[in-house]
This record gives sequence, C-alpha cells and structure tokens, in this order.
Amino acid sequence: MRIAVIGGGPAGISAAIWAKRLGLSPVLFERDKHIGGQLHQISLPIVDLPGEPGITAQTVVQNLQSHLHQVKVPVELNVRVVGMEDRRMLTADGGVIAADKMIYAPGLKDRVLAVPGSECISHLSTGEILRQRLSPILIVGGGDRALEAACRLAEAKIGVSLVHWRATFSARPEFQDRLKALPVQVMLGAQVVALKAVAEGCQAEIVTDSGQRNYVTANRVMVRIGMEPDLEPGLLVGLHGDIANSQPGEDLMVIGDAVTPAPYRSLVEAYASGMRAAKSLVIKE
Ligand SMILES: Cc1cc2nc3c(=O)[nH]c(=O)nc-3n(C[C@H](O)[C@H](O)[C@H](O)COP(=O)(O)OP(=O)(O)OC[C@H]3O[C@@H](n4cnc5c(N)ncnc54)[C@H](O)[C@@H]3O)c2cc1C
Repeated sequence: MRIAVIGGGPAGISAAIWAKRLGLSPVLFERDKHIGGQLHQISLPIVDLPGEPGITAQTVVQNLQSHLHQVKVPVELNVRVVGMEDRRMLTADGGVIAADKMIYAPGLKDRVLAVPGSECISHLSTGEILRQRLSPILIVGGGDRALEAACRLAEAKIGVSLVHWRATFSARPEFQDRLKALPVQVMLGAQVVALKAVAEGCQAEIVTDSGQRNYVTANRVMVRIGMEPDLEPGLLVGLHGDIANSQPGEDLMVIGDAVTPAPYRSLVEAYASGMRAAKSLVIKE
C-alpha cells in the first residue's frame, strides 16, 4: 500500500517510520528544504523526551534523519502539497502524486497580527535572521517563543525590542531570567496598532495602556503571538468529517500538533499520533 505522509515534522516522520516497519510503502513529503518542523525553533535542551534528558533539538533532527535513512523511507523535500482529488495529491508546483492513503501532519503556523500594514511582518525564522545578521529586530509577543527569539538574537549582539500587550510575560521563568540579563528594550502593556514599510525596514506604531504613542523602526518585525494549525484548505476536502476527528484508517488522516489540543502538544504526542495513524492502516478490529 502506497502511503503519502505530508509534513516532515516529528509526527509525519514517526508515521513514515512506523508505516515502513508495518510493511507499507511510505513516502515523506516536506515543503521545506529540511525535515524537522518545529524542532528547528527549539534552542534550549529538551528535558522531557523520555530516555533522552537534555538532548538538543538539533540532535533529535539528526537522529530522525538517520532513522529515516536507515529504514529506507524516501524523503522528498521542497514539495508543498496543496490539494487532493480522488486519491491523488496536488503539489504547489503543479505535480500530481498518487497514493492509496494519506497521512497529513502539517503542524502549526504563527498566528497573524491583524493590523494595517501587516504585510511588512517578516516570516524569517530566528536562525535565518541570525545567519543574515539583520538588526535591529522588533518582536511582538510575550510567550516562550517570543522570549526565546529575543534572547537568542540579543545574545548574538543583535538589537532587539520586545513589545507585549499584557503587563507581564507568560513565558516560562527560565526565559524571563535569561532576558533580564540582556540589553533588550522591553515594552509591556503596549500594543502594535499599525505597521508601515520604510526605507530601513518596517515602522511600528505602538500605543501603551496609558495612551502614549511611540514609533519603533526595525529592520524586521517578528510576530510571536501564538500558533494555530497550518492547514491547506485544498487538502481538507478529503476529509469526511471534522478535522480534529479524522478517523483512523480513512483515506486522509490528520495527525500531530495540528489536531492536538494546545496543552498536549509535544514530541511524545506527535510520535504517538504517527504510530496510531500507521497502525490503523493495518489493524483489523
Ligand atoms: C520553541 C518551541 C519549543 C518546544 N519545546 C518542546 C519541548 O521541550 N518538548 C516537547 O516535547 N515539545 C516541544 N515543542 C513542541 C514540538 O516541537 C511539537 O509538538 C512537534 O514538533 C509537533 O510535531 P508535528 O510533526 O505535529 O508538527 P511540526 O513540527 O510543526 O512539523 C510539521 C511539518 O509539516 C510541514 N508541512 C506543513 N504543511 C505542509 C504541506 N502542505 N506540504 C508539505 N509539508 C508541509 C512543515 O513544513 C513542517 O516541517 C516545542 C515547540 C516550539 C515551537
């Protein structure tokens, strides 16, 4: 049975490895130039992967890569699947891929900041900004991902301003402590109300809770105000019911973070969802 696994994050990789082990013929499709998904955004050692305390995300990616190679799962990079028709998947560059079953593990994308001028928001990752040495950077958000990005950039001597609409951060204490030691301009109780493209990059209009209006110009503006499922509408036509309840064994199953309630999103859950999807294709109940 030909299985197309769409999304090369932990959930999709797990599904592909399990499918291969169960005697199926999976192919893994990833739209980026590398597998790993959100693992590329993790900078601190991972402390909650059982049996691997303190492992780095980079090592997890390398281990997953070697595992796929070892069990000979074909991996097709730079392929974005955008739709499906009967049992064929359509790719963004006009390609068509035939498969008997599809396991869709798209993960999450950044939540959008809905303000005028939002087209000047950068979609570069923290790693890419570091590689290009872009500075200064304005980060919007107050959770783990916002503070982690602020710390990584400031530690690399990139100018960082951080604006958050609440009076306190929601990020875990480790990030808040790390931030305190860095020269980051922090604006709490302040909201970005408009953005404008300017010669230096992007100018943000920021209004504080007390009504004060400030303007900050940055080379890039990064928005880290939470994440939401990264679903391609063209693929969901293959689902018979609600996306969160795609049934095991259906032609198209959705797995991983995209269908996991926020508190349970984790590597362990992503791996488990891949295993369940693959096994559901062979288990006859
Ligand atoms: C900063 C940060 C820290 C974290 N720390 C931890 C931690 O310490 N412990 C822990 O257990 N978890 C942690 N997580 C969560 C963990 O990384 C996720 O739960 C896990 O990566 C989810 O795996 P996934 O495969 O569902 O999605 P993702 O990792 O998001 O992977 C989805 C993949 O699908 C690809 N894709 C999407 N759509 C398409 C398409 N149409 N065609 C082709 N490819 C597509 C994407 O490019 C991506 O590579 C952290 C996450 C972040 C962001």
